[in-house]
Amino acid sequence: MDFGLSQDQELLQQSAAEFLVAECPPTLVREVARGGDGYPRALYRKMAELGWMGLVVPEQHGGSGLGMLDLALLCEQLGRAVVPGPFFSSAVLATLAILHGGASAQRKRWLPRLASGEAVGTLALLEESDRLDAAGVAMRARKRGGTWTLSGSKLFVTDAHVADLLVVACRTGGRNEEGVTLFLVPRETPGVTVLPLPSIDVTRRTTEVRFEHVELPADAVLGSPGRGWRTVARVRDAAAVLLAADSLGGAQRALELAVEYSKVREQFGRVIGSFQAVKHLAAEMVSEIEPARALVWYAAYAADALPREAPRAASMAKACLSDVYSRVANRAVQIHGGIGFTWEHDLHFWFKRAKWNELAFGDATWHRERVATLAKL
Ligand SMILES: Cc1cc2nc3c(=O)[nH]c(=O)nc-3n(C[C@H](O)[C@H](O)[C@H](O)COP(=O)(O)OP(=O)(O)OC[C@H]3O[C@@H](n4cnc5c(N)ncnc54)[C@H](O)[C@@H]3O)c2cc1C
Repeated sequence: MDFGLSQDQELLQQSAAEFLVAECPPTLVREVARGGDGYPRALYRKMAELGWMGLVVPEQHGGSGLGMLDLALLCEQLGRAVVPGPFFSSAVLATLAILHGGASAQRKRWLPRLASGEAVGTLALLEESDRLDAAGVAMRARKRGGTWTLSGSKLFVTDAHVADLLVVACRTGGRNEEGVTLFLVPRETPGVTVLPLPSIDVTRRTTEVRFEHVELPADAVLGSPGRGWRTVARVRDAAAVLLAADSLGGAQRALELAVEYSKVREQFGRVIGSFQAVKHLAAEMVSEIEPARALVWYAAYAADALPREAPRAASMAKACLSDVYSRVANRAVQIHGGIGFTWEHDLHFWFKRAKWNELAFGDATWHRERVATLAKL
């Protein structure tokens, strides 16, 4: 691996940072979080024009044809600006599922629409068991004649209320990994109901999706029946890496907010940043963030270049950043004192996103156990 970024990657990183400072200030995050559906369409139109929604979609399907490291650099900036809305659901989860698991007609049909922002997608994976492995997929899909019927419920489906397309993991037979089939389900299909769920992170909306005798044609199967788990596993690893990247950017911004505040808040006639106790907190934050960056970049690089390394690298990055972002956001609140705890201050957007990122797609314990298993410990 080349340990530096290419010139193009540095440009992407810098232009994304500048764009988001201008176009997604905390005032917009607050406005979006307060009401409506949590989806700032004007911002997303501009993001799509910049090619962000289809960053890893091949050029032949209307995307930019870039790699996972590029997407991780972008996600880092999105996390830094706590960008609200369905980017992660659509440009990461649904796009990668179709890219990795779709037949060519399915890729041709959906990838240009997702890349242009014309359509929003998401992944419906988890159920009541909340298991991230194949045994967690229990919802049944049955075939009769040329038609599939889906019945059951999916939980913690991000942004399904604004999605045009749901990629739904179902059991069509067998146990564990054999017999998991992915379906492409337009949200408007009769029998699909989306219900909001309360969520700690106000920048991303979570839903329950119910399927009551939802009838689908044979070509709604993504790829081939019974072969969906390979795709889910790949998307799950990618999601872990990109949430780690989002966390990296978020942690960096939380640190900056705390340091900025410590330079202006005065107590006992001095700025609080001059007290050694506060300096120590900030130094600990820096010393956690910097090594974490290497794990995220390596895991993103491995996703494209080192497929055998990729699952372990993804888990190492997610385990580390689950902890680091939460700890850093927590310390940032401590440095702010009472004001950091309030709705009036912006810091809670990062604090809550840290909690969501910590738990989604496997918490630190889940990923550490996986690293141990993969290392045959
Ligand atoms: C949920 C909640 C309920 C509350 N309820 C009450 C209440 O009922 N009544 C009330 O009076 N107050 C209440 N408070 C306010 C609380 O007492 C203050 O938040 C607290 O005293 C911290 O003061 P501050 O927010 O001004 O932070 P600051 O004093 O500005 O401190 C900010 C940071 O600087 C550090 N710092 C400050 N001075 C020094 C120093 N000399 N050396 C090293 N580090 C320093 C602090 O440890 C902290 O990390 C409440 C706060 C919260 C969050």
